[in-house]
Amino acid sequence: MTDSTPTPLANAPLAFDLLLRDAIFLTADPEQAECRGWCLGISDGCITWFDREPPVHYTARRELRLPGHFVTPGFVNPHVHSILSMVRGVAVDLGFAPSYTPGIPKGTEVNPEQARALARLGALEAMLFGSTLVGDNFVHADTSTEAMLELGLRLAPSWRIHDVDFARVAHGEWNYDSAIGERTLGAGLALYERWKDHQRVYVNLAAHAADTCSNGFLATIAQEAQKRDLVVSTHLGQSQVEVERVRERTGKTSVQVLEEAGLLNHRLMGGHCIYLTPDDLSRMARAGAHAVHIPKCNITSGRMANTPAILRAGVNMALATDTQHGDMVELMRWALNTARVQEGGVSDEFQPRHVFHMATMGGAKALGLEHLIGSIEVGKRADLVLFDANRPHLVPHVNPLGNLVHTGQGRDVSMVIVDGEIVVEQGRPAKVDMEQVCAEAEAACRQLWGAHGKQYWQPH
Ligand SMILES: [Zn+2]
Repeated sequence: MTDSTPTPLANAPLAFDLLLRDAIFLTADPEQAECRGWCLGISDGCITWFDREPPVHYTARRELRLPGHFVTPGFVNPHVHSILSMVRGVAVDLGFAPSYTPGIPKGTEVNPEQARALARLGALEAMLFGSTLVGDNFVHADTSTEAMLELGLRLAPSWRIHDVDFARVAHGEWNYDSAIGERTLGAGLALYERWKDHQRVYVNLAAHAADTCSNGFLATIAQEAQKRDLVVSTHLGQSQVEVERVRERTGKTSVQVLEEAGLLNHRLMGGHCIYLTPDDLSRMARAGAHAVHIPKCNITSGRMANTPAILRAGVNMALATDTQHGDMVELMRWALNTARVQEGGVSDEFQPRHVFHMATMGGAKALGLEHLIGSIEVGKRADLVLFDANRPHLVPHVNPLGNLVHTGQGRDVSMVIVDGEIVVEQGRPAKVDMEQVCAEAEAACRQLWGAHGKQYWQPH
């Protein structure tokens, strides 16, 4: 057979499950960042065609003409605690992370049924606003993983692993108990065993923080992660409390403690990264560790990570919504504008493309999934978000990415696709009943707050 002899299949039509046409694609691929009016074909959950025109011969089960729409990669939101939607509207005004705050419901009080309801609420909100991957971490991770999968999301779940007695932390006591460590790490590893073969689930080990895990326990987590090549997620430089507790216990910084434990490497995702020294940042960069920037949570409690310093140290940055509401579009704006406050003006290092990268490829890299997701490229999984950009605040389309980052919002999302499956259509979930999700979460919150004797919050 010579090159000029057509194979029997050469003229056979390409078969797509879904074909998207006439949209403006914002790809997060620096080689071709913006592709106007291109055509994207999906087969078997994968992007199999991306070009100016469709193939000459093709079939498509569904073909969408999308003039005036922006299509982006799905947002990768790697640090979320969906269950903490239970303290929405309250915890944010009490000064610090919910797990450390007295007088409000705690993870230790949540039963599996409540966890299911709350996880679905938090994850649904993130998905409706364009997160296609949610890295959820908390107690009852097994139940909440099942619950969130019902929505159609890609997940990077983890159990909250610690050996401190969390019930006492809110009262200022850090007591380490090996039985708690064994139980939480065991639960984290069981979660991995249960889901390791699922196509949309990538379990990681969440060592809660350097102050809530003792040194020996951190080393054990490092060994278990290395054996299985698992990502380890942690809260890193989240608070002065963490910094002081770790220094009291070890005389070192959290980054140094993680390094000694064998956790500082390319598999580590550090959430927050507020209280880090220049030396900490160099250590993270050398090790290839990743920073998860959580601007909205940090700033609403009056703190900011030094993102220009993190960027210049050469540390990969992801973006995450954490316990705040799950809008990654709004979050890009927070990340961009706070960096500009820190820089004292507009610079070439903080432009819309940089925060868009954090929200997509940055998160994919942090999870070791950059070969699968994070950008629009042939061969990657079809995780995509469609924005209806015909709305007045997104017109004119002179610079679509500038529009999206500066004036867009999660509520502009019209469709979300995960693994080629439409999971949000016309702004509503395709696989679950939205009103039911909200009602069940409301009921769970009434029970949890009721146990604290205050069904409704009354600020004093
Ligand atoms: Zn967190």
